[in-house]
Parts: sequence; C-alpha cells; structure tokens
Amino acid sequence: MIRAGVIGHPIAHSLSPKLHNYWLKKYNIEGEYIAYDVAPEDLRSWIKSMPEKGFAGCNVTIPYKEEVFSLLGGNVDGIALRLGAVNTVVVEGSRIIGLNTDAYGFTQNIAPYIKRLEKKEKAVVLGAGGAANAVWESLISLGFKEVALTNRTHEKFKDKEPLLKSIFAKNQGTTHQIYEWLDFDSMFKDADLLVNTTSLGMAGKEPLDISLDALPKTALVTDIVYRPLMTPLLVAAKARGNPVVDGLGMLLHQAAPGFKAWFGVMPEVTSELRQFILAS
Ligand code: NAP
Repeated sequence: MIRAGVIGHPIAHSLSPKLHNYWLKKYNIEGEYIAYDVAPEDLRSWIKSMPEKGFAGCNVTIPYKEEVFSLLGGNVDGIALRLGAVNTVVVEGSRIIGLNTDAYGFTQNIAPYIKRLEKKEKAVVLGAGGAANAVWESLISLGFKEVALTNRTHEKFKDKEPLLKSIFAKNQGTTHQIYEWLDFDSMFKDADLLVNTTSLGMAGKEPLDISLDALPKTALVTDIVYRPLMTPLLVAAKARGNPVVDGLGMLLHQAAPGFKAWFGVMPEVTSELRQFILAS
C-alpha cells in the first residue's frame, strides 16, 4: 500500500483527497491519499518522520508552503527554490525532496488557449499574493515578452524584490513592469493575456470590479479563483467577446506530477475528472 496525503491547517476544505482518490481508483492502484490537519508545532516532526512512517510523499497547502521549503533546506527543485515555497514532497529512500508544481499547473491549464492567440507578447497579472509567484514563473516559460504586475498594496513588491529578481533573472527575454493598482488603461493596452490572482471574485468575497474597456477583445482572460468556476471577471470578459479559461484546471494539473512521483502513473486531467470534482 503506497501512502500519500495532503497537509495543511485547517485542511477540511481541500479537494486533493477527492482528486487523488479518483485517480487511484481509475488506475487501479493500491494506495491511499488522506488529508492531515497538522498543528504548527508538529510540522517539523511530521515532515521528518515521513520516511519511517512509509509515506511516498505529500502535498502541502496553506499555511505551510514556505515553512516546508525552509525545513527541507536545499533539497528542493529549481522552481521551488525560485519561489521559496513547496507544494509537493517526495520521499526517496531516506531523502525528502520538495517540489513546486503550481507554475506547471497554471501553464498546463492555459497552454492550449495560448496556442490559439495571434501573439503572446504582453501579459497582465493582477495581485501579488502567494499564488501570483507561480503565475509569474509560468509566464516566462510560456514565452511572454512583457509581464505587467500590479497589486492593491504596492509595497508588497518591495518585499518581493528578491523573489521577482530570482524569477525574472532566469528569463529567456521576459521583462516585467510594475504598475499602480487601478492604472488599468495603461496596463491593458496591447495586452494578450489577463490573469487574476487576487482573491476577489471568490465565493464570499467582493467581485473584482474593474473596467475592461482598454483590454483588447482578443486577449485571453483567466482567473485562478475557481469557486465559482465562472467568476464575475470571466463573465464580464466573455460577455464582451474575450476568450476565457477558468481556474479549476490549474488545481487539477498541479496535482499530476505528485501523483506520478508517488504512485508511478502520470494521471490524465479529463473532462470526466472536472465533472467529478465539480459535482463534489
Ligand atoms: P493571498 O496570498 O492571500 O493573496 C491575496 C491577493 O488578493 C493579494 O494580492 C491581495 O492584495 C489581493 N486582494 C485581496 N483583497 C483585495 C481587495 N479587496 N482589493 C484588491 N486586492 C485584494 O492568496 P493566494 O494564495 O495568492 O490566493 C489567491 C486566490 O487564488 C485565492 O482565491 C485562491 O483560492 C486562488 N488559488 C487558486 C489556485 C488554483 O489552483 N486554481 C491555486 C492557488 C490559489 P493585497 O496584497 O493588497 O492584500
């Protein structure tokens, strides 16, 4: 029996057990994937004892992505190192290795739509919270030439200066420019992609209420918020004719590399899986 799971605090909201157990059943694998609510004082010993407890690995969610990164010292992949956060842990013998698959998840979710764009020069990213880091990383690998960044709290970019440097320093020709929040007219000019990474639009929060007038109608609009699936931003963008992609695929795709590392099969993200997760 191969053991894996997800750790967080709290953890009841996590969709990961549903997702991984769907794949375990689909691929007929003898394994288990369980959600563990780990108290902050137990985090270190929980991670360190994974090999002796027979874990193949685990996912890491809020609020532990940065702390697990620190606990693992240098035993992390290049993306986790740049982002300073780990969302997937893999046990190899007595070694515990940290990965970050959030950027992979975002990339996989929008790559088929990006292919259909006439050009992919300028991307605009709203928000600079934890999830934005992975989106910035992804936009470089997707080949955007310019990334426009903005956040309600402008000072956050000061705190993130080292991280931005490490992400954009490895770029293959991508520049980034920081805009004032609400300077949407300048930001949206000639944009090919708009990404919302703020929590606005999420069920229970205010909608992201911004004017899209300056955004070209050819620009792809995506939201990483997936509850609801069609956020007010996506509804408004679709109504004016922009192509849109919801954020559920990011969640599904980021899970696949961990499943492959623990259970040995690269699982497929299918429309049946989407329906199954939506129904639950
Ligand atoms: P976070 O670290 O708490 O960041 C929240 C972001 O939202 C910050 O940029 C914050 O700006 C902004 N924000 C919050 N309230 C605002 C307001 N009233 N006006 C303007 N901006 C506001 O959260 P996160 O981890 O980055 O997650 C953000 C969202 O992405 C969540 O809804 C989460 O569920 C979703 N998410 C989805 C996936 C996926 O797989 N699809 C993965 C990760 C996260 P300030 O800095 O000014 O506070």
